[in-house]
Amino acid sequence: MHPEPARRLDADPSRPDLDEFRRAGVLALDAIAEYHATLARRPVLPAVTPSGVAALFDDDLPETGTAADELVADWQRRVLPNLTAVGSPRHFAYVNGCGTLVGVLADALAGAAATNAGAWRLGPAAAEVERQTIRWIARFVGYPEAAGGLFVSGGTVANFTALTAALRHGAPRGTLAYGLQSARRRGRFLLYMSDHEGHASVTRVADLMNLGRAAVRRVPSRPDLTIDPAALERMLAADRRRGDLPFAVVAQLGSVNVGAVDPLEELAEVCSRHGVWLHGDGACGLWLAGVPETRDLFRGLERLDSVSVDAHKLLGVPCDCGLLMVREPARLAHAFALAAPYLGDEVAAGIGGRDFLELGPQMSRGFRALKVWMTLRWFGAEGLRRQLARQVALACHLHRLVTDHPDFEVLHEPRLFLYCFRFLPHALAGRRGEPAAEALLDELNRTLADQLQRSGLALAMTSRLGGRTVLRFSICSHRTREEDLDRTFAALARLGRALVPDTLARLPQADRVA
Ligand SMILES: *Cc1c(COP(=O)(O)O)cnc(C)c1O
Repeated sequence: MHPEPARRLDADPSRPDLDEFRRAGVLALDAIAEYHATLARRPVLPAVTPSGVAALFDDDLPETGTAADELVADWQRRVLPNLTAVGSPRHFAYVNGCGTLVGVLADALAGAAATNAGAWRLGPAAAEVERQTIRWIARFVGYPEAAGGLFVSGGTVANFTALTAALRHGAPRGTLAYGLQSARRRGRFLLYMSDHEGHASVTRVADLMNLGRAAVRRVPSRPDLTIDPAALERMLAADRRRGDLPFAVVAQLGSVNVGAVDPLEELAEVCSRHGVWLHGDGACGLWLAGVPETRDLFRGLERLDSVSVDAHKLLGVPCDCGLLMVREPARLAHAFALAAPYLGDEVAAGIGGRDFLELGPQMSRGFRALKVWMTLRWFGAEGLRRQLARQVALACHLHRLVTDHPDFEVLHEPRLFLYCFRFLPHALAGRRGEPAAEALLDELNRTLADQLQRSGLALAMTSRLGGRTVLRFSICSHRTREEDLDRTFAALARLGRALVPDTLARLPQADRVA
């Protein structure tokens, strides 16, 4: 198929081969144009059976990477002929858009910028495009233009979001803290995570489930910021005795600040003793369970009832894409199965496979798996392991820079690709721990992050660690090289030094060391 051996697009992710990108891109564009030229002539539903299609896709993840043009060719060979021609002029099923060609380009362009429209700082124009689009739609349909809102993954999540707001708004008592439960009533449903590194998304989940935020119990953590299983066990027992109903524990599989992985084997023991579901939040860290250098941290993973992982984080696919895996998949169907006459419950045997809409909250769903599937195959398992290990090595490199510099403070060992440290100028080191000095240090680190952001050289933010404001680096990009960290760290040191005189001048006189 290739006149010369296939070259690998992005073979060195730190120096993408743009000529190769153009070559594969032209093939993809031709494939898209050809598909649309013949769309009206294509069968709307391909003549396939669930087992026939499944048989086409049961090869193992290849160990070596695949060239991008070969991936495009395989899309045409294997994937496209077995997709429904949803864009066909004769597609009348469900309620489904045809996929505009400009939308195809938009997805590619948005993907190229890797924009995450969740944070203003990650795409200021994206926020305004979203607000403007919403204003336009409001005007178009005759809804008040002052209305606000947001795009979500689909109508189900939109309805869900609206009804949660409605309930919060209309309930005769505040439901934010306790949801539909009562602080005074026994039998509250409770879930557990570590106090320091537990993720805010779990609080959001308590919101969505209407348990109330007080249902998220914070379990003390150990000095390395992993959860303390003995403390968890005591809390579970005490809550049970009070008549409450513990139902889940959320373990961190790579926490957002320091990459902490909770002790899974011990948690599995505790949870099985108490009959509680153990979920692993691997949104940012789970990929590293597949890497020899970090695999040991995840011992016991197979015992978790469920694990989540984001593909738009460490794997790098364009936003958005998250994945949930449940050890006993029937439990998902038990929670989400849904029947309605217009959902095709009575299609003839042989042309109906499993509907993912019965396994989770979304009904219409983008074909997110494709970008993950292609990305995994593009890397190959070995290529991916190498790439991920490189990112952990970069965190270690940053750790060495911090360790070797007299004006920075080491706060933890690097574990995964997330690393926090603090600017602690030499001249202030002796004042460490004094409340006035600590307050100034917090402000100093915030200012430093602001200045770095404004310099345009790099985007790093602050977080809180052990009650202090710290600089937080998530080395999540495949393109980062050591020299990128070197330059950024040098800029931090330079900017920080310039802030020291002012900071020293503001230290309260009485506290100042002679
Ligand atoms: C990012 C993240 C989440 C939330 O995932 P989204 O894809 O942003 O919704 C949850 N937990 C952890 C640990 C995360 O890093």
